[in-house]
Amino acid sequence: MTEKTDLLSMLPGEVEEYCKSIGEPRFRAGQIFKWMHTGASFDEMSNLSKALREKLKENAVLYFPEIAEKFVSAKDGTVKYLWRLYDGQNVESVFMRYHHGNTICISTQAGCRMGCAFCASTLGGKVRDLLPAEMLGQVIMAQRDMGERISGIVLMGIGEPFDNYENVVKFLRLVNDPAGLNIGYRHISLSTCGVVDGIDRFLGEDIPVTLSVSLHAPTDALRSEIMPINRKWNIEKLLGAAVRYFEKTGRRISFEYTLIAGKNDTKEGAQQLVATMRKYVGRRMPIHVNLIPVNPIKEREFEASEQESIKKFAEYLEKNGIVATVRRTLGPDINASCGQLRNKKNQDEKNALH
Ligand code: SAH
Repeated sequence: MTEKTDLLSMLPGEVEEYCKSIGEPRFRAGQIFKWMHTGASFDEMSNLSKALREKLKENAVLYFPEIAEKFVSAKDGTVKYLWRLYDGQNVESVFMRYHHGNTICISTQAGCRMGCAFCASTLGGKVRDLLPAEMLGQVIMAQRDMGERISGIVLMGIGEPFDNYENVVKFLRLVNDPAGLNIGYRHISLSTCGVVDGIDRFLGEDIPVTLSVSLHAPTDALRSEIMPINRKWNIEKLLGAAVRYFEKTGRRISFEYTLIAGKNDTKEGAQQLVATMRKYVGRRMPIHVNLIPVNPIKEREFEASEQESIKKFAEYLEKNGIVATVRRTLGPDINASCGQLRNKKNQDEKNALH
């Protein structure tokens, strides 16, 4: 980071203040804000005078990530970006095509400190939080590179959004701004591993995005084993917060459940999940469980469930009033499970040093 002003992290009102502080009229702020959100550099802001562009270059900086690597799936057109940030850190995004439009999955931190046992993003711990500009920059730069509008965002890449609370909230307001990308909150999903005080704080923000809760286990014993966060906020507390979120926003919660062979994908597991949901949620909100076959990482022994167990698990939930969908896996040929590319890059860089 430099002493320069991080202009891309600023909301329109803040850009106005900034313009005032450097002796520029207010309407300049609108022009600059629009330009930034197309991915333009200061030099490309062609309706600003040369003198102003020079002044901006001296005093401000746009923390756009640069494309370090790009992989296009031959199977389904999914595109994975490995970005290089200003300090050399790498994070990932995935661009996905759905029938309802293009969606991007973005990272919120460089690394993660939540320690989930099956997840590649947490292997090297957390290095730092991303700036609002760096989250926004992933969307802007992917859109610019693809030449196609992105209409949906999921915060399901590297990092725990509620462990970078202020910057994530700022990013959500930026990406929703009518003068910028103007992406509706209804087209944004935020996924959390279960940071309950984050969920409760978020309730007060009036940002009605879809909340995804990474549940992954039906009992506290198993959840604490594979997700350390459960030792701080157990399933009862987590489901309580999920219900409060639903009651306040009216937005349906989606529960992520990664199926790991022999661990949480058994008949008993399905029965326990139904019992847990009955006990702590009951009829207070509709329940939707998204089943995801685990994407095995080489550092851990977890294996994906058999198709047959997935089917049976889903059927059992459905029979008991829980809507269950099985996540379609996109881009399996390009390491599209977040965290895998960043690790590989870190590993390669280490090896190159020796
Ligand atoms: N920290 C947030 C968001 C990032 S992870 C969270 O935990 O929700 C996005 C989703 O991918 C989470 O549900 C996470 O548990 C899941 N995930 C992580 N590693 C995975 C793997 N190897 N296979 C399948 N899903 C995985």
